[in-house]
Amino acid sequence: MKEFEYNVLPSRVIFGSGSVKKLPDEIKRLNVSRPLLLSTPGKSNYTNQLSDILQAASIAVAGTFPHAKQHTPASVTEEATAVLNSIEADCVVSIGGGSVVGLGKAVSIRTGVPHISIPTTYSGSEMTPILGETQDGKKTTRSDPKILPAVVIYDADFTMTLPPAICSTSGINAIAHAVEALYAKNANPITSMLALEGIKALAESLPQIVLDPKSRSPRDQALYGAWLCGTVLGSSSMGLHHKLCHVLGGSFSLPHAETHTIVLPHALSYNAPAIPEQMAKLAIVLPGSNGDALTGLELLLEKLQVPRALKDFGMKESDIDKATEIATGNQYPNPRELEPEWIRELIRRAWAGEAPK
Ligand code: NAD
Repeated sequence: MKEFEYNVLPSRVIFGSGSVKKLPDEIKRLNVSRPLLLSTPGKSNYTNQLSDILQAASIAVAGTFPHAKQHTPASVTEEATAVLNSIEADCVVSIGGGSVVGLGKAVSIRTGVPHISIPTTYSGSEMTPILGETQDGKKTTRSDPKILPAVVIYDADFTMTLPPAICSTSGINAIAHAVEALYAKNANPITSMLALEGIKALAESLPQIVLDPKSRSPRDQALYGAWLCGTVLGSSSMGLHHKLCHVLGGSFSLPHAETHTIVLPHALSYNAPAIPEQMAKLAIVLPGSNGDALTGLELLLEKLQVPRALKDFGMKESDIDKATEIATGNQYPNPRELEPEWIRELIRRAWAGEAPK
């Protein structure tokens, strides 16, 4: 076995249907009492449910802020921080997808108040010490263990309303974290085991969610898979796939999970010749692979009927060159050397919705 280093990130996870009822205990355990509840617009049903649970436990909600946006714009964070200070809230509770988790992280790292996260998509952000923020159309990312939420409550009951189409793209977003963890520069047997288990759980459960959106057990299994994929995202260096999605999302305002879903087969196909061992392991956990992970991934994407072309989300053909330039502009760890001409072709195919090369 090769030498390796493994850093365990501090995180407390409460998992299970109905576990949101443990929120008051978690707030008390952190020695705080005045939560600010964060959500994306239109999700007041979530914050109302949390308010009821907290009030029943004699915890008064200090306020709500339902304005989280994708890619964590700095202006929204400043607004939320001003609200937190004005109402003297002493902790934040984020409920929703990666957008609101990002806002919770951004407010917590600026103010020092603890953050409890209740994720309702599979983005995995809640398990990472990474915060990506946008200002003036540019996305910057920083990493600090203090960015990690103090507690994460995974309650699949809150994912029952997540439409199968969002489950699918969000689930592929999670799978992408685990795929890149398999060939990360700092990959190790523990992260690889978690990554493969996470991919297996999602590859099995996502098609079941599409077939029967009301069934509870695949929702549980998908959230479990997303947790594991988020965990490896938090402790592994990411390569070409995440770099491309970061550039496309941050510079061209493309939607996060859909972009990951469209780019993943292209990025994996590009790296495949350099990672035969990882491809073989991946094939084992992707149903219907017949020993070929790219076939297994394609089959999964077909079953989920996910979008396949970046042009359908507003990216212009003229953006391809700029995206190539930014994505190949600086070095980052990737198993296959970045060849600008091939990266351009990769982006062009993803833009057009063509099959990977
Ligand atoms: P999102 O949070 O924007 O959610 C997508 C949509 O799903 C939204 O309209 C939301 O309101 C809706 N939604 C969420 N939960 C729902 C539910 N249970 N029922 C019905 N609708 C629901 O998108 P996302 O893909 O979860 O997260 C994307 C954001 O997360 C991006 O800003 C991305 O940069 C960030 N992210 C960060 C990290 C990290 O480690 N820092 C990792 C992954 C994603």
